[in-house]
Amino acid sequence: KKKSIFKVEESILKAKNILKGRIKEFHINLIISVEEELKIYSYLEELQQVILIVLNNAIDAIILNKVSNPKILINSYSKDSDIIISIKDNAFGIDPKIIDKIFEPYFTTKQKSRGTGLGLYISKMIIEDGLNGLLDVENEKDGACFKIKIPKGEYNV
Ligand code: ADP
Ligand code: MG
Repeated sequence: KKKSIFKVEESILKAKNILKGRIKEFHINLIISVEEELKIYSYLEELQQVILIVLNNAIDAIILNKVSNPKILINSYSKDSDIIISIKDNAFGIDPKIIDKIFEPYFTTKQKSRGTGLGLYISKMIIEDGLNGLLDVENEKDGACFKIKIPKGEYNV
């Protein structure tokens, strides 16, 4: 585990690159909007891993719900001493009956062969225990919005 200074955009683009095949196959309109030159001192590998898990879940939701104009928005901006990365899809959101359970280990609504139910559990651990941040979700108008909040970290450029 190694801390370094990196551009937030880099962590998002790495995750996107890994999923580019699925994004293309399902004609998903992925829009990334990152504040210019937004840098942090944190754990690139770990952050990239979490963005990958959340983005992959958004793609799953779009496919499973047969969304006709699939769209995912990733925004990142700085807020006080933190960086916020939000990942929003238009796959109709998460049933309020289960929304409190999705971060629990082994909770999944997917077929056994398709989901382990560990992705969000691991993601929350990485962000909150490893990176000293917060990972949360809210339903918005037409889909789920996951928000990653992590400290910018102290560094001298
Ligand atoms: P898995 O993907 O293996 O099911 P996760 O921990 O990654 O496990 O996610 C747990 C559950 O949270 C999913 O099964 C799904 O029901 C729900 N979920 C996660 N992301 C989304 C999303 N973007 N839209 C709707 N439901 C979601
Ligand atoms: Mg998952």
